Amino acid sequence: MRRRGIGALAVLALMAGCTTGSDPDTPEPSPSPSVDFQPGADGAGDPYFPKYGNGGYDVAGYDLALRYDPKTGKLAGTATITATATQDLSRFNLDLAHLKATEVAVDGTAATSKAEGNELVITPGSGIVSGRTFTALVRYEGTPSLLENKALGNGGWIRTPDGALALGQPESASTWFPVNDHPSDKATLKLAMTVPDGVEVLSNGVPGERPSKDGWTTWNWSESSPMASYLATVVIGQYRITTSKHNGLPMVIAIPESLPANGPSAKSLARTGEITDYLATQFGPYPFTSNGGVVVDEDKIQYALETQSRPVYGQTFFTNGENLGVVAHELAHQWFGDSVALDRWQDIWLNEGFATYAEWLWSEHSGDATADELFTTSYNTFNWAEIPGDPKPARIFGSAVYQRGGMTVHALRETIGDEAFFKLVRSWTADHRDGNVTTDEFIKAAEAASKKDLTKFFQDWLYGTEKPPVP
Ligand SMILES: [Zn+2]
Repeated sequence: MRRRGIGALAVLALMAGCTTGSDPDTPEPSPSPSVDFQPGADGAGDPYFPKYGNGGYDVAGYDLALRYDPKTGKLAGTATITATATQDLSRFNLDLAHLKATEVAVDGTAATSKAEGNELVITPGSGIVSGRTFTALVRYEGTPSLLENKALGNGGWIRTPDGALALGQPESASTWFPVNDHPSDKATLKLAMTVPDGVEVLSNGVPGERPSKDGWTTWNWSESSPMASYLATVVIGQYRITTSKHNGLPMVIAIPESLPANGPSAKSLARTGEITDYLATQFGPYPFTSNGGVVVDEDKIQYALETQSRPVYGQTFFTNGENLGVVAHELAHQWFGDSVALDRWQDIWLNEGFATYAEWLWSEHSGDATADELFTTSYNTFNWAEIPGDPKPARIFGSAVYQRGGMTVHALRETIGDEAFFKLVRSWTADHRDGNVTTDEFIKAAEAASKKDLTKFFQDWLYGTEKPPVP
């Protein structure tokens, strides 16, 4: 994110206590091992936000078939969720905010469900043994709305004059589909969104067929790389969509019809391919199978977000003309944050530090201020009391995460040298592609790439409250 103003498996469910009357002449069957089915946790256990997401299962994919009417603001449809139990599950939760589930089934059999706040608690007819893959179908409907978050900013579904959009970090997806809303559970996303003819729909991934029937058009989108839930987006309204190919991959760029077709936002996003290619020379191959960007003309969106394979940019970034820094920032997140995703929110400097650094690299590449000059400016003006390694929940979008995170990346490069630094960056993005990481893993990787003990370096730069010396 960048804010405006700051830089079915063959496993049987074994039922406990299942005995039958037996003939005295036949030997007693050996007793079935008893399975102790327990409820999945109502949170994923993130140290900063323990109630975000859920426990007890791991989602592989969401398949959404939805219908949205801009005239009424109502959303309705079906989510089919493929997941694997990570414990013996008696029941499990999905996050679903402000929407009503009308029918729930697990593996094709009706399941009971109840809403508890923003959680949908699903109890299948029988327990699900650990390691078993299952399918949860949720039919749901309602008028979607935001998740209010005073500390971090509201996230999720916003109705707009011509449609709607769903965007937000650290939580947003539960406002439009039932989800395990935590980045540690990445999953693929297929979306079929039906809207009135003449309305456009943008989302993540590769565009599919667009059949129309009885005045309604279904837009198909598919993101085949596992994705953190907050990186899922949908944008509905009046848009000019440009679809092309870049390096053989679909490039989809959308500009609202309310903005000029060749204005600063359109001109900036038109550079997406070129900026991606430059970043690939620094970070390694682009990790996804599509690319692009969407500009939204909505006052409530005073930020840009690295929604996977298709960042969404608030128009606010382009009011003073072209802005390639923000494009470089969101595209850098495709490697850092999206492909290589967080396992816990505390480590968000791994996303934002690299995205900030990418802005500096792009600046230098463009002939503007060098990365070293931008580092120095930040270094001389920074308040060192705030630490990026443990920013605390209310400051996960604070300047320490961004500016000091970026400085940490540059200071690391200066400490271990260009050869080790770029070897580290490229092996990091390759080794953890489509995965989840922690700061400790990054420190170990940096030490391995540089063959140096970097304990003191990372202590000073990520956790120290005094200005560290320039390397
Ligand atoms: Zn960012």
